[in-house]
Amino acid sequence: ASDSGAAVVDASVETTDGRHVEVAANIGQPAELKPAVERGADGVGLYRTEFLFLDRETPPSEDEQYEAIRETLDTFPDGRVVVRTLDIGGDKQIPYLDQPDEENPFLGERGIRRSLGPDSDLFATQLRALLRAAADGAGDLAIMFPMVATVTELDAALDALDTAAADIEECDADVVDVEVGVMIETPSAAFMAGELAARVDFLSIGTNDLTQYVMAADRENERVGDLHDPSHPGVLRAIHRTVTAAHEEDAWVGMCGEMAGDPDLTELLVGLGLDELSMSAVTIPEVKTAVSDTEYSTASERADRAQLAATRSEVHTTLDT
Ligand code: PEP
Ligand code: MG
Repeated sequence: ASDSGAAVVDASVETTDGRHVEVAANIGQPAELKPAVERGADGVGLYRTEFLFLDRETPPSEDEQYEAIRETLDTFPDGRVVVRTLDIGGDKQIPYLDQPDEENPFLGERGIRRSLGPDSDLFATQLRALLRAAADGAGDLAIMFPMVATVTELDAALDALDTAAADIEECDADVVDVEVGVMIETPSAAFMAGELAARVDFLSIGTNDLTQYVMAADRENERVGDLHDPSHPGVLRAIHRTVTAAHEEDAWVGMCGEMAGDPDLTELLVGLGLDELSMSAVTIPEVKTAVSDTEYSTASERADRAQLAATRSEVHTTLDT
């Protein structure tokens, strides 16, 4: 086993028995691109487009968004860049977007719900910017929709993407194929993973929100911090069924919540069948090392037992033996 990340940092990694796992970076602002490259990210697994909308008075234009995505695609010429469409609401407020004052904002108009509702014009602009960048940029773009709860929402988002592609073609510009995916952040999405996966190329599990909603424990409230832990078997079962259902539909499955960047959980996640792990750049070398130290066949047996455990402490006992 390697004892430092240096040896594996630049290479793509696989388990000792040859299962490849993509290790990618989460990007929440432009300054994070360089560290992601330096720490050996295979690509970007979550590009949070919210930051393009922050610290300004009006939304960014189509061209501004095009430039930002184009730069990211050019930074990872051999990689994949998963861009999440605008995900505001809940904890994420943008003053000029006229967000409602909601009693339960985390259960309110968030993510795709806004893109299919009050922000549908912004959604269309963003999708055109993304498709144009995909045609011109070096790396492979993938588009991902946040906070999806129903198949109907996904179908509407896919329709919006088709419309954006048609708009671009009408202007005689090129449209290239891009991968499309859905974030699994709501219990409903985890239960519907098969039907969602049948319509797209990939799913990406957002464990920050998924844990919050499966455990009914606010991700920001320390008083319930013990419950907001993705290693509770209730959350592991949601992850397990998501991966299994998606693989049956030949979709790949990533994870881009904080859980993906915890090297102590890498063996569990590889064993659960995750194809990609995306995290803040700082933990990439450690996670790459952990993947290359893992034997998939053993990890898979352990993960099966872990998700069947009755308690979180039983989960950890299973992982330690
Ligand atoms: C998540 O919910 O796990 C996620 C990656 O999205 P965010 O943290 O931006 O809500
Ligand atoms: Mg989220």
